[in-house]
Amino acid sequence: MIRVAICQFGEETNCFVKGRAALRDLCPPTGRWCLSTEVEEVHRGTQTYIGGALDAVRDLDCKAVPLDFPKMNGANFLAGPIMTKECVIEAVGRICDELRRRRGEYDCLFLSMHGAAVSDLTEDVESYTLSEVRKAVGDLKIMSSLDNHGNLTEEMVRLSDGYIGTKAVPHTDIYEAGYRAAAMLIRTVRGEIEPKMALRKLPLLSFWPAGTTLDGTPKEIREYLADYVQRHGLLDATFFQGFSSADCACTGASVLEVADGYVPEKEAEELAFYVWDRREGYRAESCTAAEAINKALTMVKDRFVVLFEGSDNPGSGCPGDGTHLLRELIGRNLPRTVMGPIYHPQAAAICHTHKVGDRFPLKVGGDTQPEIFGAPLDEDVVYDGHWPK
Ligand SMILES: [Zn+2]
Repeated sequence: MIRVAICQFGEETNCFVKGRAALRDLCPPTGRWCLSTEVEEVHRGTQTYIGGALDAVRDLDCKAVPLDFPKMNGANFLAGPIMTKECVIEAVGRICDELRRRRGEYDCLFLSMHGAAVSDLTEDVESYTLSEVRKAVGDLKIMSSLDNHGNLTEEMVRLSDGYIGTKAVPHTDIYEAGYRAAAMLIRTVRGEIEPKMALRKLPLLSFWPAGTTLDGTPKEIREYLADYVQRHGLLDATFFQGFSSADCACTGASVLEVADGYVPEKEAEELAFYVWDRREGYRAESCTAAEAINKALTMVKDRFVVLFEGSDNPGSGCPGDGTHLLRELIGRNLPRTVMGPIYHPQAAAICHTHKVGDRFPLKVGGDTQPEIFGAPLDEDVVYDGHWPK
C-alpha cells in the first residue's frame, strides 16, 4: 500500500500591504500549528486542498501520512504581507525535520502550496520550500496543488514532479485540485503514468477583479483549456492568472501543461498564444468611489445594487479598513444604503461601551494605510445595536 505524506505551506503575498507576516500570523488566532494527529479531523470532508488529497488517498486504497503544518485559517491559504525570513526558515525547517524523522513512514509527498508566496528570504518561496524538502526526501515523488493566482517559475517546475492548479476564479475547485494532484502522485508512484510539465510565462499582469471565470474571456479560456486537455489526451492544463499584488520578478500569468510521458512544449506554446490573443479580456475597468456610485444610481431603479470595493479586499491581503467608499456615501447621504463591515476593533470596542440609541463622535477605519485606503472618518454616529442575528 502506497503511503502518502500530506503537508501544506504558503501564503498569497500582497507586497503592497504594510508590515511583515511572522509565522504566528499564518496560524491565527493562537499561532498554533495543525498537528499531524489533527489533520484528518480538521480537513476530512472539507472543500479544501487537503480535504481533496485525503479523499484521493482513500479512494485509491492508499494510506495518508499527515505531517504537522502551519494552520493557515484552518483550511486554506491566507493572504497577507511579505513573510519574514525567519517565518519561512522556521516553517520549512520544521516540515523538513519531520520529513527526516519519519522518513520510513511514507513513499511520496503531497505538498499543497499557493504559488505566490513572497518573503524577505526569497521572492520564490515555493522553490525554496521544494529545494529544502528535496534535501530531506531526495528524489522521492513530490506533487502539489496550486492556486490559480500562482506566479510560476521554471525553478518551481524543475523541482517538482507535477502540479495541478485551480481553474476557477473564485476558487470553487480547490478540493478538486487537491484530489487530482494527490491522485496523479499515486498513479505516478504506481508506474501507471509518467507526468512531465511545460511552462510558458506570458508578459501579462492580470488585475484580479477582471479574472473571474464566471463569464467573459476568463470563462471562455477556462472552457477551451478543459476541452483542449480532452482532445489532446493531456493530464492537465492550467492558465495561471498570476497575482499582480505579489510585486516581484516572477510575477505574471503563465500556462502550465502536464502530459503523460513527454514534455508538452508544443501544446504549451499553442495555449499560451491562445490566451495572449485574448489578453484584452483581462483589462480591468477601474473607477473612483464617486463614479461607482453614479453608475450604481443609474442601475438601482426598484431593486438594489451591490458595490464591491475591490481595492481593499482582505481576500487578497488588504486590511479591510478602507474608507473611500463610505466617505463618499456619507457625503451624499443616500437613502436606503448599507455599508458592509469595516475592520476596526477599536471603534467596535467604543460602540460596545454605549447604549442603543446613544449619539457620540467616533473615528472609523483608515487605521492601517490611510495614504492608500483612505483617512479615518470622524463622524457623529448613532449606535443602533449589535450585528444583526
Ligand atoms: Zn487565488
